[in-house]
Amino acid sequence: MLTQLIRKNILQLQPYVSARDEYQGEEAILLDANENPYDNGCNRYPDPRQKALKEKIAEIKGIDVRHMILGNGSDEIIDLLIRSTCRPNIDNIIVFSPGYSMYEVSAAVNEAEVRKINLTADFLPDTKALSLTRDAATKIIVLCSPNNPTGNITPLPLIADICRENPCLVVVDEAYIDFTDAPSALTLLDKYPNLVVLQTLSKSWGMAGLRLGVGYADKQLIDILNRVKAPYNISSLSQKTALSLLAGYDTFTHKIETLKRERTRLFKAFATLGIFTKIYPSEANFILVTTEKYRELYDFLITQKIVVRIRHIPPLIEYGIRISVGTEEENAQLLEALTTYKTNIEKL
Ligand code: PMP
Repeated sequence: MLTQLIRKNILQLQPYVSARDEYQGEEAILLDANENPYDNGCNRYPDPRQKALKEKIAEIKGIDVRHMILGNGSDEIIDLLIRSTCRPNIDNIIVFSPGYSMYEVSAAVNEAEVRKINLTADFLPDTKALSLTRDAATKIIVLCSPNNPTGNITPLPLIADICRENPCLVVVDEAYIDFTDAPSALTLLDKYPNLVVLQTLSKSWGMAGLRLGVGYADKQLIDILNRVKAPYNISSLSQKTALSLLAGYDTFTHKIETLKRERTRLFKAFATLGIFTKIYPSEANFILVTTEKYRELYDFLITQKIVVRIRHIPPLIEYGIRISVGTEEENAQLLEALTTYKTNIEKL
């Protein structure tokens, strides 16, 4: 089934073979890649297969490296998936709204049609609408869990149903998975060859500046994506820095616990303030709130040098603002600013 989802030109692709693909030994005189021989820490091309970094991620996640692709952010893997499957002006992808908008941008770049379905009132994928919307030209269905910007998870049995019932790729974007106690869709990987799980080192691991996304899928699909990607898509400095940061597992778990505690603190404080019409529970590192005065609030926070994100996405989210969980100090300043805002509007 998988090969039927891949564009013919991609299946027939003769990938670029880089010098470092051909020679993988160490301690040699490297005169094969037209590099500058004088060592400055980055004069050599990086490992195109990112072996050491993948092995470290494999050890943390308990997933074989052959099921893994690394991208320059998950955004690169999103583009690779669409580019490898969707024939321009013929095929389509299905996304749910509200959701992460990069899928639509990548589809537009690749001239793939985007079919958008509203989530249910509980912010879950509407499977009835999905079966009416999908057709033979649908190559990818995108689910985000926890979802951005609503912060809720999609339960695994629902994800499994969607994988079983739809003969196309089902991408489960788990950028925020480390902030929830809910299980990852990685546990379904063995069962569903059409399942792709996307995670990232940008959020819980705190490496947004490095740009490192991780895709997990069936080996056959991973092979294809690896052939399509640019050979040196992850810089040597990113690979090296990520490896050393991934060694700090204790710091990682400690920071996540702190962020989750802060999320609860903010949630309660927002409720006490009484300035929001709705505060959505979140399993991610942000909280979505709504208020009809969202523009005024946004502008006021800017005057206090606090930047949040407007998320007005009717019909499901009217007048929303998404607020990331910051450090304890940043959150304290945010709450102080919101209290001032409340006092100001009460005076009016
Ligand atoms: N997926 C989701 C659901 C996101 O919200 C984001 C970032 N906002 C990303 C992916 C992007 O991740 P990366 O930094 O790895 O490109």
